[in-house]
Amino acid sequence: MHTDDTIRTDLKGAAWLEAASLQRVFDALETRGAARVAGGAVRDGLLGRPVDDVDVATTLAPSEVVEVLGEGGIKTIPTGLDHGTITAVAGDGEADVYQVTTLRVDVETDGRRAKVAFTDDWAADAGRRDFTMNALYCDRGGALFDPLGGYDDLSRGFVRFAGEARERIEEDYLRILRFFRFNAVFGGDRFDAEGLRACEECRAGLDSLSRERVHEELFKLLPAPGALATVKVMADSGILEHVLPGTFDVGRFERICAIEDGTGRSPDGLLRLASLVLRKAGDADLLRGGLKLTNVQSDRLAGLEAKSSAVDPDLTEPARREALYRSGLPAFEDAVLFNWAASGADADDGRWKDLLALGRSWAVPRFPLRGSDLLALGVTPGPQIGDILDRVEAWWVGQGFPEDETSLRAHLETVIAACDKDQ
Ligand code: ATP
Ligand code: MG
Repeated sequence: MHTDDTIRTDLKGAAWLEAASLQRVFDALETRGAARVAGGAVRDGLLGRPVDDVDVATTLAPSEVVEVLGEGGIKTIPTGLDHGTITAVAGDGEADVYQVTTLRVDVETDGRRAKVAFTDDWAADAGRRDFTMNALYCDRGGALFDPLGGYDDLSRGFVRFAGEARERIEEDYLRILRFFRFNAVFGGDRFDAEGLRACEECRAGLDSLSRERVHEELFKLLPAPGALATVKVMADSGILEHVLPGTFDVGRFERICAIEDGTGRSPDGLLRLASLVLRKAGDADLLRGGLKLTNVQSDRLAGLEAKSSAVDPDLTEPARREALYRSGLPAFEDAVLFNWAASGADADDGRWKDLLALGRSWAVPRFPLRGSDLLALGVTPGPQIGDILDRVEAWWVGQGFPEDETSLRAHLETVIAACDKDQ
């Protein structure tokens, strides 16, 4: 996906690197040691992508980092002291916060956690990172340091493990997911065969990961440009079933990606997940627990499960409007897109496009009556207020949402009179 001519050769002049707060961190660290930006920021910066998390690696021990930053007037927080990470708060903005980590090697790992030893050897630090493209460094002026040849791999979109793939995976099974995530985000169509084989062989290790970590990786993978090719490979290699609860449907996933693309929508991780997994009642609950979904995410899935059967292009125009009115725009669009993918229709199917377009072409009206209107007409407070409103609203919807309030109020009075008679 990236070719040599779209990737920078150094980071000279990058605004995030020249930020005064980061340069102050360098000033402080370089009074006693060496420091470089490491990992994701360098990788993303080279690709011209936005850089928001800057990690700094240094030869100084954590206690020295705290000292020199303190001397430089920079506030420190001992965020991950065991792993050698200190947070440097070098200004008032969100972007002025940096993670400063002592160069380290992992001496003991159990597939999830690592015991670390500090070092002043840059190549050793590179070797404990996951992929060559994540083992890139740059100094304060933007010059690259690339001990593992990660630059070439990055420029080809080639995700290659730092060192022997199987060994690196057995140290930390999350690397399987990171392998697929980075392929989905940066990769070309070609997976590193050795890396892929090792992921496949070690896939059972995924079961030992916390669902929070799986959630985080999965939601970075699903909306990525190469998600479809990646999900196919994960399904074919028996890996996807260790990541997702329930059964999955790659065909539907392929269609939702095509539909999003064809309708000019940005990739939506949750909708993609729903298309991949949701099939029957109860699947939303399974996903909620199995992937530690947020409340917002599970509410959307529950909405899809509840509404999806009701929305399709066979609906008459009034029924479409009613569906949109009842669900609200976001849930209506969710249901249309999800059902479209489930129906097997093409991404350029005119009938589905039409249905989706209603959400943009018709401004959902607001029901004009409130409980206070009924009280003003002398209705006694109590449950009948809600009942009457519901009945009048159903009539108003059935009439096609008339704008004229006269007929609505006339109908309201009829309903009130009928209620009075009943009592
Ligand atoms: P992003 O922030 O976009 O998720 P990133 O590469 O910056 O990507 P982080 O989790 O922020 O990922 O980690 C920062 C760096 O730490 C990585 O670039 C990599 O060098 C290293 N790293 C992160 N996770 C692992 C891991 N599981 N194993 C080895 N190295 C890792
Ligand atoms: Mg990062």
